[in-house]
Amino acid sequence: MAAMATDTSSTIVPAADRSPSSWGLGDGQAIPWEYAPAPEARDIVTLKERYGLFIGGRFVPASDGGTFATVDPATEETLAHVAKATPADADRAVRAARRAQTRSWGALPGKERAKYLFRIARILQERSREFAVLESMDSGKPIKESRDVDVPLAAAHFWYYAGWADKLGYAFPGRVARPLGVAAQIIPWNFPLLMLSWKIAPALAAGNTVVLKPASTTPLSALLFAEVCREADLPAGVVNILTGPGEIGMALVTHPGVDKVAFTGSTEIGRRIAKGVAGTDKALTLELGGKAANIVFDDAPLDQAVEGIVNGIYFNQGEVCCAGSRLLAQESIAETLIDKLKDRLATIRVGDPLDKNTDVGAINSKAQLEKITELVASGVAEGAELYQPACDLPERGYFFRPTLFTNVAQSHRIAREEIFGPVLSVLTFRTPDEAVEKANNTVYGLSAGIWTDKGSRILEMAKRMRAGVVWANTFNRFDPTSPFGGYKESGFGREGGMHGLHAYVRLEDR
Ligand code: NDP
Repeated sequence: MAAMATDTSSTIVPAADRSPSSWGLGDGQAIPWEYAPAPEARDIVTLKERYGLFIGGRFVPASDGGTFATVDPATEETLAHVAKATPADADRAVRAARRAQTRSWGALPGKERAKYLFRIARILQERSREFAVLESMDSGKPIKESRDVDVPLAAAHFWYYAGWADKLGYAFPGRVARPLGVAAQIIPWNFPLLMLSWKIAPALAAGNTVVLKPASTTPLSALLFAEVCREADLPAGVVNILTGPGEIGMALVTHPGVDKVAFTGSTEIGRRIAKGVAGTDKALTLELGGKAANIVFDDAPLDQAVEGIVNGIYFNQGEVCCAGSRLLAQESIAETLIDKLKDRLATIRVGDPLDKNTDVGAINSKAQLEKITELVASGVAEGAELYQPACDLPERGYFFRPTLFTNVAQSHRIAREEIFGPVLSVLTFRTPDEAVEKANNTVYGLSAGIWTDKGSRILEMAKRMRAGVVWANTFNRFDPTSPFGGYKESGFGREGGMHGLHAYVRLEDR
């Protein structure tokens, strides 16, 4: 499959030549130096051959003994075999969650629930290196991102919501906040531990219990989290982890014992889930896809903007729902900006996710690599101009070169569809009105970025963006105190901040 990554780029367009400027030096001064390998040790992680489901505080096999393999996308090697849940297991997990909610967790005072959440946060921090390495092995993301972003932010969400557990009365003044009951939570593979924490921390703080289904390609950090729950002495059944295929997600969504469904993933599955809960009184939040515009005005600090654009689309291989996948550059600076971007792309390091120098790791799965490859080919076929920097890709694994398209029309698939890969489409605009039109010309509405020197322009543009999150002179910044969520086909409901608590409570009059 490694050949796929290599073949892809060679069949579409040959990678650009290495130029002296790609070393950050002027012509004639090129010194061919390389980074020394800086691999993070894998031995902090103890992989088991087999993992069970986590139900009622115990690891158990699937009811029919089924398992599936989880693979390291950087090496294509099997990391472990994981239990493949059946509908009977889903039923068992929901019952365990219900028992825990009615008998122990739901009845605990908030300050007692908080103690468990603080404990979990602390253990996540203590075991952060182990989590970071495991996450990079299972998902393909670079270690510097799992180490510096995913794991610290996951712990921060537990710290943050632990603080709210005994203050729900202040979060919702004049109302009484009651837990909804049992939450079914389905998460994707791009930020496995972080999405788990976005969902589990507020649910538990508000007195709910949960059954969480991780994505099939990235189950391991959720199973390590199950160990953390045991270490924290969390009462049995408060957190249940079901590994298995999409149908198990649907078995949870339609289970009559579930009170709340929270989903992050593709718009297509989000639609099916909405149909699955229609006609019931289950609460639902959906966090779906995106096609964010990153808008650069001619007065923006261009070098800073280049870093923001790179972070916006190449962070986590572009497998980010809020990725800045459409660059809108004001016409007068477009050429300069694109030149600077190409120069910067030449310094991006693609390769072993466990190497601390790696900027872009492995694509999460073969299927995702195929999807990116197909969409990039469509961009070429529809007439956009492709640029890929010269970089050697590892011989094995699912890798894709950072890619930039110019001459992109709004009608191109690469400008309309969520690629979920390291692929940037550049469009141009002349006036702020045109930028607004183009930015909002998408079925999605998750995020946007604005780069300009003028504060008043930031405020005006932010007001006109039909997007849940708008970053100004930065991109892809997250904080547990800040709500996150979308409009239109990007879903509804908010996660993070007090808004994130609201999604897990029923408010009653005093
Ligand atoms: P999915 O939406 O299929 O997967 C997200 C989660 O939903 C996974 O846990 C998955 O399980 C589960 N799931 C799959 N089918 C069902 C179902 N019928 N009922 C309930 N749960 C289900 O995303 P993919 O992994 O297939 O990725 C496809 C595309 O979606 C990507 O190319 C990307 O464009 C987009 N995507 C967007 C994300 C976002 O955050 N906006 C996140 C992930 C993907 P399983 O893994 O077992 O299939």
